[in-house]
Amino acid sequence: MLHNFGSINLDHVYRVPHLVRPGETLASHDYRVGLGGKGANQSLAMAKAGGHVCHWGRLGRQDAWARDILSRAGVDVSHVALVDAPSGHAIIQVDDRAENAIILFPGANHGFRRADLNELVAATQPGDWLLTQNECLGLDKLFPLAGDHGLKIAFNPAPMTEDVLKLPLTRCQLVFVNRTEAAGITGLTPDAGGEALLDALVTRLPATEVVLTLGGEGAWYQQGNRRLHQPALSVKAVDTTGAGDTFIGYYMAALQAQLPIDACLKRASIAAALAVQRPGAAESIPNCDEVERAIK
Ligand code: ATP
Repeated sequence: MLHNFGSINLDHVYRVPHLVRPGETLASHDYRVGLGGKGANQSLAMAKAGGHVCHWGRLGRQDAWARDILSRAGVDVSHVALVDAPSGHAIIQVDDRAENAIILFPGANHGFRRADLNELVAATQPGDWLLTQNECLGLDKLFPLAGDHGLKIAFNPAPMTEDVLKLPLTRCQLVFVNRTEAAGITGLTPDAGGEALLDALVTRLPATEVVLTLGGEGAWYQQGNRRLHQPALSVKAVDTTGAGDTFIGYYMAALQAQLPIDACLKRASIAAALAVQRPGAAESIPNCDEVERAIK
C-alpha cells in the first residue's frame, strides 16, 4: 500500500482569453467546479493506473462529494476526515494557449496536528511508500518520523515555497520536480536547461532518485550515475493543469507494480500526454485502459 499525505481541493476552473492582468476585470467564457489539489489528483491518478493507495487528508464537512469521487476511483479514503473548516480550494484560470494561473486557499489542508502524523506513521509498515506534496503542513515533522519508521518518502515540492528549502530533503528516496521546483531547490534560473538543472539537483541530493519533468520537453531521471531521458509525446495540449500529478500517480503505480524505471517513465509520460489533451485536472486523468491502448 502507498500512503499519500496530501491536499484535497475544490478546483474552480475559469476559461479566459488571457491570464488576468493587474487591475483588469476579465469575463470568463466557461466555468466548472471539480475535485483537485495535488494530493487528491495524485491519489486519483495512482488508483486509475491500478495502484493501491490510501489517502490521508481533510475536507470541509459539506464537501463529502469530493471524498466520494476518490472512493469511487478505488482510493482508500478511510483516513480522509470531514472537519469543521472550509475545504481547501483553488481558483484556476486557463487561457486560450493552455497556460494557467492559480490562487490557492489551503483551508482544511492546513489543519493537521502532530497526533495525525503519529497516527499515519503508526498505520504503515516499514518499506511502504509515503507520497506527499507541499500543500499540507507538518512535512518538517513527518519526514523524520516517516524516515525513522523505515518508510520510503516520495516528495513533490509543489507548489515551490521557501519552506521547501528548510525541509530535510535528504530523507527522501525519490523527488519529483518540474522546472520551477528544480530552480527553487538549486538556486538556478528556470531557463537554465534540463541537464544543468538535473546536475545541480543531483549535487544537492546525491542519494535521492530525481525525476525532473519539463513539460513538452519530456522528463529526466537520475540516480547516482544512471541518467535517463523520456521524451514527451508530440500532442496538441489544451490544458496542462494536472499533467505533473498524472505523471506522478502513474509513475508511482508502475513503481508499485515493480516495473523497471524506463517503463515507469514511459507509462507516466503517455498518461500525462493524454491528460494535457483534455480540459481540467482530475477529470483529465486517463484510465488504465486508455494508457494501455496508447502504449501498443
Ligand atoms: P502542472 O503543474 O501543470 O500539473 P508540472 O509543471 O508539474 O504540471 P510538467 O513538467 O509541465 O509538470 O509536465 C509533466 C509531464 O507531462 C511532462 O514530463 C510530460 O511527460 C507531460 N507533458 C506536459 N506538457 C506536455 C505537452 N505539451 N505535450 C506532451 N506531454 C506533456
